[in-house]
Amino acid sequence: MAKHYAVIGGGWAGCAAAMELARAGHAVTVYEAARTLGGRARRVEREGTILDNGQHILLGAYTETLRLIKLAGQDPDELILSLPLQMRYPPGAGGMDFVAPRLPAPLHLAWALLRAKGLQRADKLSLMRFSTAMRWMGWQLYNDCTVSELLQRFDQTDALCRLMWHPLCLAALNTPPERASARVFINVLRDSLGARRRSASDMLIPKTDLSALFPQAAARYIEEHGGKVSMGAKIAALQALPDGRWQLDDGGIVDGVIVATSSVQAASLLQGVHDARLDDAIAKMQALTPEAISTCYLQYDAKVRLDLPLTALLDAPENQHWGQFVFDRGQLDTRHAGLLAVVISASSHAAEQGHGPLAQAIAAQLAHVLQRAELAQPLWTQLITEKRATFACTPDLLRPGNASGVPGLVLAGDYTAGDDRTTDYPATIEAAVRSGVAAARAVCAGAKTGKVGKASK
Ligand SMILES: Cc1cc2nc3c(=O)[nH]c(=O)nc-3n(C[C@H](O)[C@H](O)[C@H](O)COP(=O)(O)OP(=O)(O)OC[C@H]3O[C@@H](n4cnc5c(N)ncnc54)[C@H](O)[C@@H]3O)c2cc1C
Repeated sequence: MAKHYAVIGGGWAGCAAAMELARAGHAVTVYEAARTLGGRARRVEREGTILDNGQHILLGAYTETLRLIKLAGQDPDELILSLPLQMRYPPGAGGMDFVAPRLPAPLHLAWALLRAKGLQRADKLSLMRFSTAMRWMGWQLYNDCTVSELLQRFDQTDALCRLMWHPLCLAALNTPPERASARVFINVLRDSLGARRRSASDMLIPKTDLSALFPQAAARYIEEHGGKVSMGAKIAALQALPDGRWQLDDGGIVDGVIVATSSVQAASLLQGVHDARLDDAIAKMQALTPEAISTCYLQYDAKVRLDLPLTALLDAPENQHWGQFVFDRGQLDTRHAGLLAVVISASSHAAEQGHGPLAQAIAAQLAHVLQRAELAQPLWTQLITEKRATFACTPDLLRPGNASGVPGLVLAGDYTAGDDRTTDYPATIEAAVRSGVAAARAVCAGAKTGKVGKASK
């Protein structure tokens, strides 16, 4: 029987949950506090230019995200630039050049390794041993440890750690290897490098802004299926009614609620429900610690173009080299000709420099490592630091599941746990979307059986 559900939060998790509910024939209302959909992956406007709150990269392994983008009527081939797996530093910068050819997996990795420049034989052998060992272990780690410990255990050379593992770990988990969960890192590696499908390891860069790529299309889908998306609608309180339904502070009464906000906002909403069964989930949310990500946009003359759409940079904070990757936005969207986006993951130290000095240091780093003096003088810069971009993805982290502990109240967001430890993902778009889909299924299943759904771990 069709029910009416509320989804609080119009980020990628909330949009995914609402699409799934609408697809199943339920009436759904999405409440989004902001004026733009997308949450931590959304469009912003600066200096008259449409940008994102942070430069994002997706992986071919993001199967749920790509499925829902298509279901929402979007064409990923048109809206996303797909690059083969690569780690390409500027020539002469002491980095490496590793590009996987379009060959079937795992041949593409073996070939890329064979051809990689900037790595010695010992580096290549140690990477090969690592990947063989991971396959042999079924990409599973029974006892979690830090990524640094894992790399040490598998004798990864200094060059490999510095040029490949360190930047990959930062990009995937937004947590430095010395603090990052090896188990979650391996989960991501399994689904990308270890997948049978070569395209799972592709690196996907949105050509359009993030709100347009999915959340706005999801809203259209929800409305076409009879649902509603309310913008500028912040829900401050929820109340359980004696008949098992829920009342929101706008007066609406629904059969079930999916709280699809960030963990901080979810903890505060759940506290207001005053039900001891929620204490465990609230405690787990409150124990998560935030990690920042900064994106520095630098606009140059429209004629400025880099050799590649995505270039890895060696971060060396001791030399004021903070940038880790630079994206040439002009190669993604002609309206962005001359616009570069430099990403700094786990950026709390970098952000302490202050906006002006950090943007200046990044421009100087680009000019130095790309050996192009003109890059030291951008026309304008915009630095966006998201202080709570993700949670720190540390070993053996206790994350709440989708079930809140109370029937009819379900959690969705990048911070929730997977079905089991092999599906735990870092705070990413794919984690948010998977969580949204799982939350929709849980709230429907709970409505049928009257049960709470899978317990948190
Ligand atoms: C700068 C940056 C770079 C990133 N880079 C990458 C990347 O390259 N690849 C990747 O996969 N991931 C990346 N991420 C992570 C990714 O963006 C997040 O994991 C994902 O967007 C989280 O989605 P969510 O729906 O779980 O939560 P959110 O995006 O936080 O959505 C929650 C929504 O709820 C709304 N809300 C909150 N409280 C209320 C309320 N009371 N009532 C109504 N609405 C409310 C908020 O306004 C928000 O829109 C990055 C994140 C940042 C910030």
